[in-house]
Amino acid sequence: MSETTQIRHPEKIHRPDNPSPRKPEWIRVKAPTSSEAAEVRQLMRSKNLHTVCEEAACPNIGECWKHRHASFMILGDTCTRACAFCNVRTGKPGAVDMAEPENLAQSVKSMGLAHVVITSVDRDDLEDGGAFQFVACIERIRALAPAPTLEILTPDFRDKPGSLDRVARARPDVFNHNLETAPRLYPSIRPGARYFESLRLLQRAKEVEPEIFTKSGIMVGLGEERIEVLQVMDDLRSAGVDFLTIGQYLQPTPKHAAVQRFVTPAEFEEYKTLARAKGFLMVSASPLTRSSHHADRDFQELRDARARQRQRV
Ligand code: SF4
Repeated sequence: MSETTQIRHPEKIHRPDNPSPRKPEWIRVKAPTSSEAAEVRQLMRSKNLHTVCEEAACPNIGECWKHRHASFMILGDTCTRACAFCNVRTGKPGAVDMAEPENLAQSVKSMGLAHVVITSVDRDDLEDGGAFQFVACIERIRALAPAPTLEILTPDFRDKPGSLDRVARARPDVFNHNLETAPRLYPSIRPGARYFESLRLLQRAKEVEPEIFTKSGIMVGLGEERIEVLQVMDDLRSAGVDFLTIGQYLQPTPKHAAVQRFVTPAEFEEYKTLARAKGFLMVSASPLTRSSHHADRDFQELRDARARQRQRV
């Protein structure tokens, strides 16, 4: 595989001098101290696998790992981008682990997962952005453990023509790509990405495989206006996206973007109602909503929602 040395934004560019406000009482998280969490951790280490649960410092890790629900992060633990919200390490990644698809499939089998979520770091250094590894993981899991449904959460494959088509044609059950925030905030929060290119990626996934469920998410509390959130919803519906997730942004470390505001649970409920009215098949909106939180249960509901919708027409 050929590699280039192009790396976008190798340093975290946001250096806030204003700290985040104190967490409100509705943000309560549990540490991953259960014996089940220890087993998941041990399995990941033994198979040389990474999870976004750990690398992104997800607040739900205590709850998810207690139920042996983890989201795998492939293509290493080092990202070529430096988004201001993200805890994943930035730098020059190492070589791709060609044993990863096999190790991942074995772990999925041994964990007895019903639904698998696979994401990755951005790999702008790879010719196809790492699409080949997504395909290899999907194919190996299907061969070794055919039962689970598969959800992938991909990078934007910017300037990697053909990569999205290749991944979509592997037919994951859910194709997820997060817009993360409103377009006005992209230069400071997601500087290596382009809002309309991400939207187009989601639209294209459905053009390639019309039966695929598409999903996207944003974080709130980064300084976006309510009207901007509603515009993002409209844009996602225009791109045919089925499932929207909205969660509170939490600052992983002081060098990341500061939380501008904690959105109240009542406001999340209102976003949920508005998004449903705009036609999403499913919406998850709450302070601790994350893309992969309860993804197994949500997938069942998503499938049921589509079946009900088709019965009505
Ligand atoms: S919400 Fe997703 S990323 Fe967070 S702990 Fe659960 S599975 Fe992992």
